Amino acid sequence: MDAPNEFAPRPSASAPVWFDRPRLEPFPPLAGRASYDVVVVGGGLCGLLVALLLARGGRSVVVLEARRIGAGTSGHTTGKVSLLQGTKLSRVLRRNPPSVARAYVEAGREGQAWLRRFCHEHDVAVETRHATTYATTRVGLLRAEGELAAARTTGLGVRWKRSSELPFRVLGAVRLDGQYQLDPLQLLDAVRDAALAEGVVVHEDTRMVGVEHRGDGVVVRTDAGEVTAGTAVVATNQPTLLRGAFFARLQPQRSYAATLAADWTPRGMHLSADLQTRSLRSVRAGVGEELLMIGGSGHVTGRGSATERLDRLLGWAATTFPGAQVRHVWSAQDQSPVDGLPYVGPVVPGDHRIQVVTGLDKWGLSTAPAAALLLAASLLGGSEPAWGRALRTWAPREVLAAGRAAVVNAEVGWRMACGHARRVLRADKAPLCPHLGGVLVWNGAEESWDCPLHGSRFGSDGAVLEGPATRALE
Ligand SMILES: Cc1cc2nc3c(=O)[nH]c(=O)nc-3n(C[C@H](O)[C@H](O)[C@H](O)COP(=O)(O)OP(=O)(O)OC[C@H]3O[C@@H](n4cnc5c(N)ncnc54)[C@H](O)[C@@H]3O)c2cc1C
Repeated sequence: MDAPNEFAPRPSASAPVWFDRPRLEPFPPLAGRASYDVVVVGGGLCGLLVALLLARGGRSVVVLEARRIGAGTSGHTTGKVSLLQGTKLSRVLRRNPPSVARAYVEAGREGQAWLRRFCHEHDVAVETRHATTYATTRVGLLRAEGELAAARTTGLGVRWKRSSELPFRVLGAVRLDGQYQLDPLQLLDAVRDAALAEGVVVHEDTRMVGVEHRGDGVVVRTDAGEVTAGTAVVATNQPTLLRGAFFARLQPQRSYAATLAADWTPRGMHLSADLQTRSLRSVRAGVGEELLMIGGSGHVTGRGSATERLDRLLGWAATTFPGAQVRHVWSAQDQSPVDGLPYVGPVVPGDHRIQVVTGLDKWGLSTAPAAALLLAASLLGGSEPAWGRALRTWAPREVLAAGRAAVVNAEVGWRMACGHARRVLRADKAPLCPHLGGVLVWNGAEESWDCPLHGSRFGSDGAVLEGPATRALE
């Protein structure tokens, strides 16, 4: 695969601060055939938590991870476990009735509390922090005020603050106390260890290429063998199955993060409501050292220049924190659902043998535990929590988002047409995505081929980095 010449910024996006410590030995890939009660596809936070809860419920469980645990979004988050989530609640309320938005907050509250208990019991360090949604522009101010109203509607104990600890001018901020931040890789390792202690089997370097019904159960085919099971839980974050067409109800959002050795670090966790989103928190790195972590510059994967976005984030850091030294730069993506709410449950209505979890919209640290609790209740025969309706797949609420889904898919169709026209008219040699044939674009910041349709990404050697694609480039 020839990579076009494009200016790559220095430093380019590579590994997050969490990967500074040595990683454990990899788990062996699947070999041949195996049989379990449940096969969980995806070794991110969702997959590992579902595996842990189902094993605790007495099921034999295997986790199949395409790369390594932590290689996906969970190992690349900014690690804030907060119920105040930028302007998320305004978005949820625009597309759903207040009762559903309240149920979403309740789900997060339960997930957040469950995770805090888990961290306490498994020695995962948790730092209690206040969270803010702040504004530096007039538009941001209107959005922050909207979020204040939305948060109050959903029962969050927020306050309005005219000032903030941030070392630049803030027009106003919503504040929520008692939230927390953590190291997501330490968390993933602890969940994995707890799952192993319950008898869960893990295979890394094992990519699912398909799931089919067989008899009363399913067979998951991978590039390394196959697993038969009563139930498959597809927790691949990116919507890897064509069945259920979740890829048509989600938008892959890529964003960037960095750590800086700076004169100033925040006590709270801050996210701007401005059109140009900026996130700030502190992070402990090494003995006694505290770094400033920043994030932002999000965009739909494969659309617009990743290099430019990353430059913009680092440029903002350079002017806002003069003299700060960049230590780590990385990027990741998560799926934004058209109605603002996650999808957790059967892949198609009534098919309980294949379950999916996706659409956590950059806030999975509190919703992943809720999603796992919901799936475990349904697969182990427990009663569904009242907040489950805000997370369930195929819920009536989705009808309200049909218009937005149509707009998102019209844009996908337009990108597809433009890509192919460019390929023919300019004899462009860009490869095609094996998912649905989108024309890939070169991402110079991360040296990858990215699909502007549904967010699949490939290394310069053609290997799959992120789905929905499950096959490498030819
Ligand atoms: C930049 C950024 C910052 C974020 N910060 C925060 C934050 O501060 N707080 C917060 O709450 N949330 C945050 N999030 C969101 C949060 O990280 C995610 O919602 C959450 O980690 C998703 O977990 P997951 O298990 O669904 O996905 P992942 O962690 O991506 O796990 C999915 C796994 O499936 C594997 N996989 C994919 N395809 C296959 C296949 N075919 N076969 C087998 N395995 C496969 C992948 O390799 C991956 O390991 C952030 C997201 C981004 C992008």
